[in-house]
Order: sequence, then structure tokens, then C-alpha cells
Amino acid sequence: MSHRVIFVGGLGRSGTTLLERLLGELPGVVALGEVVHLWARGVGRDEPCGCGLPFLRCPFWRRVGERAFGGWSPELARRVLDLRHRVDRTRRIPVLARRTGRRGRTARPAGRRPDRLRAYAEAYRRLYRAAGEVTGAEVIVDSSKHASLAFCLAGAGEPVSVVHMVRDARAVAHSWSRWVPRPEDGTPMTRWRPAATAVHWLVQNLAFHLLARCGVPVTRVRYEDLVDAPRRTLAQLTLRLGLPAARPSFLADGAAVLSVGHTVSGNPMRFAVGTVPLRRDDAWRTGMARRDRWLVTALTWPLLLRYGYRLAGQGAGQGAA
Ligand SMILES: [Zn+2]
Repeated sequence: MSHRVIFVGGLGRSGTTLLERLLGELPGVVALGEVVHLWARGVGRDEPCGCGLPFLRCPFWRRVGERAFGGWSPELARRVLDLRHRVDRTRRIPVLARRTGRRGRTARPAGRRPDRLRAYAEAYRRLYRAAGEVTGAEVIVDSSKHASLAFCLAGAGEPVSVVHMVRDARAVAHSWSRWVPRPEDGTPMTRWRPAATAVHWLVQNLAFHLLARCGVPVTRVRYEDLVDAPRRTLAQLTLRLGLPAARPSFLADGAAVLSVGHTVSGNPMRFAVGTVPLRRDDAWRTGMARRDRWLVTALTWPLLLRYGYRLAGQGAGQGAA
């Protein structure tokens, strides 16, 4: 059975997990979480699936592993992580972009060293296909976020559609500066200083613009639009992605009703089941030091304007996504 892959990309804390959970509620769609972390955190450390069971005991992932690879094994995880380390790096995006851009135009000369990119992407392709077969879903959502993986998949010929999530850089920087425990083990999630977040924000977002210039379909969604008007934003997105129009009964303005998802790794929101309020996290407006706010604005203003955010005052304007 053929399947389609929708890759949800963007810098962390931009609402990628929320969008993936909403997409996963649509008929014919299965959301897998941040597959990029499956190898280390799922297979390697047996961290919990979104259903709450340890990864290796989750029936869904057991079936996917059996079908895709004849079962999960530490060797498989090591092999994919080694390939990831070699090919799937943000600093390799310029190299990957050249390959993505010339995809289909020139065949790679035969007889050269093994094609690591192809081998790496093949692991994902098998996993996506198995997830489609196990669930009967035609659309697979991978919310791995990192632009480098989207380049790897596209460069290896996997037909991915990318949803590029953006969120106001000041809100993202404020979120990354806060102390948040990981629900998996209680250890603190990574924290970045606001200037570091601003640089990551620029790099990741610009990378998705580059990906679009390489001919990969990229659709942009603003976090603020998704939480302010979830029905409308999701309806517009499914239209742009060519997904069947659905009347999302799980969605009201202000809340979503989520079922159990078998998502591997991601934001703590992946464990949420039942009615989940949808409201903007605007803590940065009151909680962020003026100096940090100014610094992040100074570093990111051209893209903030492009995405329709106001540099001073009340933030996101309407309808610029
Ligand atoms: Zn599960």
C-alpha cells in the first residue's frame, strides 16, 4: 500500500507536537511523534510511548518493528544512530540542499563508497511503510522537527510534504529559558539562553525556506493561528496538503479532544488524552526580561516581520501565515 509522509518541522517549542496530535486525529492519518529520537530513546532507552507503555512493550511499535526490521534490536539502533551522526546534521544542510536540488536530474555514479544518505533514509522509509500497513493509514506524520532530517529524506527521494511551524521568536526564546522536567524521567529539559535560541530559530526557519527553494513542498503554519483558530487553521492546512476535507469533531475553538497516540518522543503534550485546552502560551509578554526581549527581536526581526509578527506591542497580526 502506498503512503504519504507529512514531516512537521520547526524549532522545538513552536507547537509541532500540538499540530501533530491534531493531524493524528484526522481519518486515515497516523502520527508517530519525533521519529528521529526513536533509535536512542525508544529502542535504546525504552522510554515511554505516548500511550504510556515502555516503547518496547507498546503493541503498536512492536508490530511496526517486526514488519519494518524483523524486530527492534540494539544493533539496528546503533547502525541508524551512526548514520544519523554522519549525515543528519544541521551543519550539513548546504551539502544536503545541493543533493535535494539536483534530485532526479543526475544519477549518482555507481561503484563509489556506500550511500549513507540512502541507507539512513531507508530506515525511515521502512518504518513509515510499516506504520501505514499496521494501521491502514495512508498518511504518516513524523514530527521530528529538524530541517536536516527533512533534507535527508527529500535528498534520498522520499516524497515528503513539509509543514513548517513557526512561532514568535520571543515566545520560543522564553520557553527555552524555563526549567521544565521531562515527564519520561524527571530530568530537566535542555535550556538555552535567549540569544542562543534566537540563532537556532533563525537557522531552522531559514533552512525550511531553503528546502522549499529546492523544490520540496513546504506549507507554513503559525502556532498562534493554530491555537487562536484551530478549526479554520487545520481546515486550511488539510486543503493545502491535499488531505480529504474533514469536519473535525474533536476540535472546538478553545479545546481539542485527543485520543491515545503512539508517539515516540516529543514534547510532554504527547501524553495528553481527553479534553486539552488550546490557548496561547503568552508568558513571555510578562515573564521575559526587557533586555532579552530586545535582544531576540534585534536578532530575528526580518523573519518576524515576514511571518507577520509585530516587533513591539501585541505580537502576532492576523492572517499572515
Ligand atoms: Zn504506544
